Amino acid sequence: MENGQTLTTTPRLQGGDEALLGDAVVLTQIDKAIGWARKYSIFPYPFATACCAMEYMALSMTPYDIDRFGALLPRFSPRQADLLMVIGTVTCRQAPILKRVYEQMTEPKWVMAFGACASTGGFYDNYTTVAGIDRIVPVDVYVPGCPPRPENVLDALMALQRKIHSQKQKLRGMAA
Ligand code: SF4
Repeated sequence: MENGQTLTTTPRLQGGDEALLGDAVVLTQIDKAIGWARKYSIFPYPFATACCAMEYMALSMTPYDIDRFGALLPRFSPRQADLLMVIGTVTCRQAPILKRVYEQMTEPKWVMAFGACASTGGFYDNYTTVAGIDRIVPVDVYVPGCPPRPENVLDALMALQRKIHSQKQKLRGMAA
C-alpha cells in the first residue's frame, strides 16, 4: 500500500455481487467476471441481405460509433464470431445457409434479428420470405423498425450485453 498504509478495511459489498477490498482489489464471482469480459468483446458476423445493411453501416460512423460498446469489429468467418446479426430479409432459399452459418459458430453465441424483415418477415406476405428468423435459429434480441434507427440497434445491443453479463457462463470446453 502507498506510504506504508496497511489494508485493514473489511470488504464492502457493491450491488450484492462484488466486494471492494480497500481501493485496489475487487472480489467477484467467476460468472460475473467472464460475463463482463464477454459483453465487452462481442464479434459480430453480419448476415446482411437487404436494405437494413445501410443502417448497419451507419452504426460504425459518427455519432453512433458502435466501437464504444466493444462490438465493432465484424468477422466474416462464423468460427471467429459470437454474435450473428441477421440484417434484412431472409428468403426460404437462404434459410439453410443461415442455419449452416449459425451452426458453424462456436459457443457461446447469440443472435440479433435486425429490423422488421428479420424479426417477422416485415411487409412481405408471400411464399418466398421467412416470417421471422426465429423459425430457423434461436433469437436473443429483436430490433424493431423498417429500417431500425441506429439508436434502436444500440438499445438492443445494450439489452444483449445485460443478458450476456447476467447469464450462467459456460466454462466446459473453453480450453479446447
Ligand atoms: S426491415 Fe425494411 S429496411 Fe430492413 S430489410 Fe426489411 S424492408 Fe429493408
